[in-house]
Amino acid sequence: MEVRTLVLGLFQTNTYLLVEDGEVVIIDPVSKSERIQSKILEGERVVGILLTHGHFDHIGAVDELAELYQCPVYLHYNDYELTQDPQKNYSQTKKIKLKSKLSFYEDHLHLGQFNFFIHHTPGHTPGSVCIEYKDRLFTGDTLFKHSVGRTDLYKGSSQDLKQSLRIIAKMDPHLVIYPGHEEQSTLADEFKNNPYF
Ligand SMILES: [Zn+2]
Repeated sequence: MEVRTLVLGLFQTNTYLLVEDGEVVIIDPVSKSERIQSKILEGERVVGILLTHGHFDHIGAVDELAELYQCPVYLHYNDYELTQDPQKNYSQTKKIKLKSKLSFYEDHLHLGQFNFFIHHTPGHTPGSVCIEYKDRLFTGDTLFKHSVGRTDLYKGSSQDLKQSLRIIAKMDPHLVIYPGHEEQSTLADEFKNNPYF
């Protein structure tokens, strides 16, 4: 297994490519589709696009890549409205409104050879999720290294975030976290050093 990281866009958001035996899952295709494409090697097959939530700085290249790779796109149903309304996803002048067919998460997701656990962790947005694969946890803007996502945006909720952190607190401390912004960490380190736990 390999995780390739690209840092893209105005807010330096992380796009992750999760690669296993020639199959690729794109997590949060931020923007600059051609740069994401350039990280996918000859012979590799994109089997899906997964979104941690619906904010503009995580979804800018979804339509282009879904069309190019003819792959499904998944998000949590509660963030669907964000992807359809530039005011709610804060894309401003870019006016992002996804046209791709969108599928909604259940607790488990099978894509190619990948088996994901999808944890609904609202707070930053109502449809924020953490995506677990083997010993990795893609946390979007729910959990950052030593911090958490803001809750003052559209339909954010600090109460929901607190509850979501209680869910994360029960997870395996060995999980390596891959946040939507900035660097990786481990849950063990977060439980010890993140003041929000
Ligand atoms: Zn966000």
